[in-house]
Amino acid sequence: MQNLPVHTASKRDEDMRFKLKWLMLARVLFTTLLLGSTIVLQLGVAASPLAPGLLVLYGLIASIFFMSFLYTLLLGRVANTVAFAYVQIGLDTVIVSLVIYVTGNYSSIFSFLYLVVIIYSSMLLYRKGSMLISLLCSAQYTLLVISEYRGVLKPFELEDGLAAGNGDLNQVFYKILITIFGCFAVAFLSSLLAEQARKSRKELWAMEDQVRRVEKMAAVGEMAAGLAHEIKNPLASMTGSIQILRDGVHLDPDHARLMHIVLREADRLSSLVNNFLLFARPPAGKIERIALDKAVAETVELFERDASCRGRISIQKDFKAGLFVDMDQVHLRQVLWNLLLNASEAINGRGTIAIRLYPTKPNRACIEVTDDGCGMSNDTIKSIFDPFFTTKPNGTGLGLSIVHSIIESYDSRLEVGSRQGAGTTFSFCLKRIDPPTGA
Ligand code: ADP
Repeated sequence: MQNLPVHTASKRDEDMRFKLKWLMLARVLFTTLLLGSTIVLQLGVAASPLAPGLLVLYGLIASIFFMSFLYTLLLGRVANTVAFAYVQIGLDTVIVSLVIYVTGNYSSIFSFLYLVVIIYSSMLLYRKGSMLISLLCSAQYTLLVISEYRGVLKPFELEDGLAAGNGDLNQVFYKILITIFGCFAVAFLSSLLAEQARKSRKELWAMEDQVRRVEKMAAVGEMAAGLAHEIKNPLASMTGSIQILRDGVHLDPDHARLMHIVLREADRLSSLVNNFLLFARPPAGKIERIALDKAVAETVELFERDASCRGRISIQKDFKAGLFVDMDQVHLRQVLWNLLLNASEAINGRGTIAIRLYPTKPNRACIEVTDDGCGMSNDTIKSIFDPFFTTKPNGTGLGLSIVHSIIESYDSRLEVGSRQGAGTTFSFCLKRIDPPTGA
């Protein structure tokens, strides 16, 4: 059996029970209407209401009602609903054969009932099941007709019907072949539709699960953001108090070292909380028209003076002037800083970071940051935008998540290209705006 996730398997089971309920109801209605009306019609022409053919029909109706009652009792109890469906539909084929037999066998007008059974078998049991049921129907019909032809079976109703025994063998074979062909053709076509419906239903279930997971994640994220917000203020007070204590008290070297550790870790915690809040609740931006080359140059200049870059990394700049975008300066700085920091951390020892600023058609302005650092494996690339994913011993795994969510809020996408051992390029494009008049 296919290994399905537990929730999908239980939905499949629920779906099967639902369909079986409908089948059972339809069977009872169908029996009442079809066989009931046949009896009424036959009563008009038969010599006695106790004619053998009619007696079998009464028996059939009673047994279908009794079986439906049993099925209703069993439905809530059976563990394997698929097997239960096979049993019900298998017995239905036998009932249809009996109906055909008592209503004229070879000349019966009820052979179309096999097709009805095959159609609903494809809805419940799909391709494999409907093919098996077709096989069962074909075998039973062949057996009925051949038995009549050989004189083993005597049909009940023969008013104006045709008996197989009177027909020629070719005609009998022809009818059998046509019926078998009809059974398999209907099974094939209806299972094709049923398979398509099953595929769509599975996709829908998967989507429902996904939405539920995302909703749960969003609720957890909201809680975490609330918690982070509550941690922020006491942490700032504690750090401030410890700093004052450190400056006011004379400490021996061991205690001074411990105090340093406390402050360093408090700093780390505070930057984690701030980063997380930036990711979970990014502040609403103050959008203004900015000249990209100037804004990018400012951040790059700051970065060149930072300890993570100074003297170790050379920065190549290729900026096209005259590109303007509507954006919050703080957002742009945050995005660039995180990309530059990651690039510098990917470079072990000396290396180069190239920053390119260029227009693309029709109206985009793109920023590209390329490093010649360690690069990433395909597995790493798949996870880099997940919050808290990091491969660094002291990383928070929030830098790229922040960049990603900021860029998305400007209707853009962060693209990444990387080769292990060769380097990485991050790029994104923003909507280009006409330069302000006088610029
Ligand atoms: P952090 O830097 O705290 O690990 P990020 O979200 O910024 O968090 O980055 C997640 C991971 O993506 C990093 O741990 C690193 O493995 C990978 N990564 C990001 N930028 C680069 C880069 N320029 N080169 C190689 N790997 C990178």
